[in-house]
Amino acid sequence: MTEFSDEHDTFRAVVRDFARRGLAPHLERWEAAHELPLEAVEAMAGLGLFGIVFPEEWGGSGGDFTSLCIAIEEIGQVSQSIGITLSAAVGLGANPIHSFGTDDQKAQWLPDLVSGMRLGAFGLTEPDAGSDAGGTRTRAHHYESTDEWVLDGTKAFITNSGTPITSVVTVTALTDDGEISSFIVPAGTPGLIVEPAYRKLGWHASDTHGITLDGCRVPGANMLGARGTGLRNFLTILDDGRIAISALAVGCAQACLDLAVDYARERQAFGGPIGRFQGLAFQLADLAVAVENSRNLTYKAARLKDTGRPFRQAAAMAKLYSTETAVTATRVATQVFGGMGFMEESPVARFYRDAKILEIGEGTSEIQRLVISRSLGLPVG
Ligand SMILES: Cc1cc2nc3c(=O)[nH]c(=O)nc-3n(C[C@H](O)[C@H](O)[C@H](O)COP(=O)(O)OP(=O)(O)OC[C@H]3O[C@@H](n4cnc5c(N)ncnc54)[C@H](O)[C@@H]3O)c2cc1C
Repeated sequence: MTEFSDEHDTFRAVVRDFARRGLAPHLERWEAAHELPLEAVEAMAGLGLFGIVFPEEWGGSGGDFTSLCIAIEEIGQVSQSIGITLSAAVGLGANPIHSFGTDDQKAQWLPDLVSGMRLGAFGLTEPDAGSDAGGTRTRAHHYESTDEWVLDGTKAFITNSGTPITSVVTVTALTDDGEISSFIVPAGTPGLIVEPAYRKLGWHASDTHGITLDGCRVPGANMLGARGTGLRNFLTILDDGRIAISALAVGCAQACLDLAVDYARERQAFGGPIGRFQGLAFQLADLAVAVENSRNLTYKAARLKDTGRPFRQAAAMAKLYSTETAVTATRVATQVFGGMGFMEESPVARFYRDAKILEIGEGTSEIQRLVISRSLGLPVG
């Protein structure tokens, strides 16, 4: 069973109130605009959500990963777009610099990312290297005379990379055959081309762009982590991110369960509420079990991380189970709502569109099964 401290419970109540009163009333407008609402980022920044897990030295509050997951889950119950924005900004934007940056790099970039004044993005995926991230084709060439790296390549589907407040994109690139390193590329660097925003199935109020690196020059000091450690470091970042995505999925599944239960108690058919039909009630009972399991797996992984224990397998299990539960939850909830579930004005329709990506981003379900299989000692490729 997941046990939360009193502080966690209090914090959850604060974020829940914020999400329901500060975010929910604006969602329809934000989703229709198909762009990240900066007012939502500002509001989350005001609450200190971008700094939860970072030390006070960088402007954070030195909290635990469990608290971040609570924030993402609660925001995710209201808006998956805003939830992923927070999750990506912390887990993929600031985290690589905090985890692998030099003191100078941290001093230069972290305070604004931790405060939420600016957003960072994480450029791992490429058009021909997604699950197979080791297949990176972006190249970095070093010029001794100026001590600069020149980056050429393409990154795909990069969250928070094209907002007016994006300060930095970290990217992986080949620094030699078979050697992948990572770099900090400041927004606005000549040769860093942010492509037009994707038109997505869901997450309409989140920011996602492709990136082209065309002779993009960065100083030698912008290498992030030691040369040749880029892929390993970025995959480590994804282990954290998977717990956060799992929390986002718990939010989605819980919201769909709550909406569907309320609707099933109220909607009348054949002389009574539809919730009296066992065919429907039992689906919701099964969903309640799956949501409980998802939450337990998520916070178990977070607790392992918070207590310094290995958590890669737990993160993969949580991400796999919670995201598949979220997709099921949206399907069940939409069915319970009948025709209304297909209407844009119904939140379950939005959750239905938003859920699918949870099984894909930060490692697909198949990749989670690969990680888990390997942790069992199976000789899978
Ligand atoms: C909205 C959105 C936001 C994103 N944000 C970011 C971001 O901020 N930064 C970033 O770097 N990336 C980001 N991504 C990219 C995301 O992480 C990738 O899309 C994902 O890892 C899958 O890669 P792919 O799309 O290339 O699919 P592929 O790797 O081509 O996979 C296609 C299919 O093949 C399966 N497959 C591949 N390899 C195996 C295998 N070994 N065994 C079994 N099945 C396999 C996959 O599971 C999948 O079903 C984002 C994607 C989206 C859509």
